[in-house]
Amino acid sequence: MSAHPTTLRDIDQLCERALVPRERLGELAEVAARYAVAITPAVADLIERDDPDDPIARQFVPDARELVGEPPERRDPIGDDAFSPLEGIVHRYPDRVLLKLVNACAVYCRFCFRRETVGPGRGGLSPAALAAALDYIHARPEIWEVILTGGDPLVLSARRLAAVVRQIAAVGHVKVIRVHTRVPVVAPERISAALVRALRVDEKATFVVLHANHPRELGKEARAACARFVDAGIPMLSQSVLLRGVNDDVETLGALMRALVECRIKPYYLHHADLAPGTAHLRTGIAQGQALMRALHGRYSGLCQPAYVLDIPDGYGKSPIGPNYLSEDGSLVEDFNGRHHRYPPRR
Ligand code: SF4
Repeated sequence: MSAHPTTLRDIDQLCERALVPRERLGELAEVAARYAVAITPAVADLIERDDPDDPIARQFVPDARELVGEPPERRDPIGDDAFSPLEGIVHRYPDRVLLKLVNACAVYCRFCFRRETVGPGRGGLSPAALAAALDYIHARPEIWEVILTGGDPLVLSARRLAAVVRQIAAVGHVKVIRVHTRVPVVAPERISAALVRALRVDEKATFVVLHANHPRELGKEARAACARFVDAGIPMLSQSVLLRGVNDDVETLGALMRALVECRIKPYYLHHADLAPGTAHLRTGIAQGQALMRALHGRYSGLCQPAYVLDIPDGYGKSPIGPNYLSEDGSLVEDFNGRHHRYPPRR
C-alpha cells in the first residue's frame, strides 16, 4: 500500500510525489485550474516515476497540451445536452437512458469526454431531481435499461446506491441496470461487500462495465475487486478508450483484453477517443484504430475482441467503425491473415 493514502488533488502534491517536475509547476497549475485533478493512492502506486512516457501517468497527470484546443473539439463532444430532457437523464436511444447520479469521480482522466462537467464539488442529483428522473423513467414503458453513470456512480456510499438501485428496480418495465465505473481499478478498496450487495436486486439483471485502458491497471487488488462482483453473480463488461501513447499498439491492447478476460470481464467497447477539449495529443486516427482491430482479430481469442466504436459528435449516437471484412458486393471475405476468399452469391 502507498505510504500516502490520500488522493492527490493539486499540483504541489503531485510534485511532492515526484509525479511532475518542480520547473513545470506554473504551467500545470494553470491546467489544474481549468480541469479537475485527482490521483488516488492506487493509481499513484501504478505510475513508474522513471518512465517519462509512462502510460498510466499519461492518463492522469496533467499536461500543458491540455490548454491547447483544436477547432473540431467541443465542450460536449457526444452531445449529451441535446438529449437531456431533464437534469440527470440522457435519453438518446429508445430503449435505454443514462442516469447521471453524480458529477464527481475518484480520479480525473485527462481525456475525459465529460471533463467540462465533472469535478469535485460539482455535486450530484438532489432528492427532488432524482425523483423527477425516476418519474420520467416510470412514465416511459419503452425504457428497458437504465445506465448509471456520471461522473462515477461508485463514489457514492453503498447505502445511497442501494436506495437508488431499489427505486429503479421497482419500475416494472426496467429489466437491466448497468453501472459504468472506473472505481474497481482506481480505488479497489471501495468495492466492499456492502457495495456489491447494493447493486444486486432480485429479478433484475445488473451489469458492471469497467473502464480500463492499460493492462497494468489490472493489478492484484483491482482483480480482487472485480472478482467480488463476478463471484456475487454480477456479470462484467469492459470499455476502453484508444489513447495515443497508452494502448495504441497491438501488444498492449491485446494484453489489456487478455487481462480483462482473465478477470472474467468480457471486452465490450473500444472507444475512439472523443473530441474533448485539450485532448488532441491523446487521440489516434481512425485508420490506426482499424489496423489495431485487424491485428487483434488475427492474433487473439474471440473473447478478447471488443467492438471499435465512435460516438458521432453532437449526439447522433455510437456506431461501430470497423474494420470491415466483407467486400461491398458481398462476394469476397477477408480472413484473419489478410487473404481474400470468394463467397457464393445468393441465388
Ligand atoms: S472516470 Fe469517467 S467520467 Fe470520470 S474523469 Fe474518468 S473518463 Fe471522465
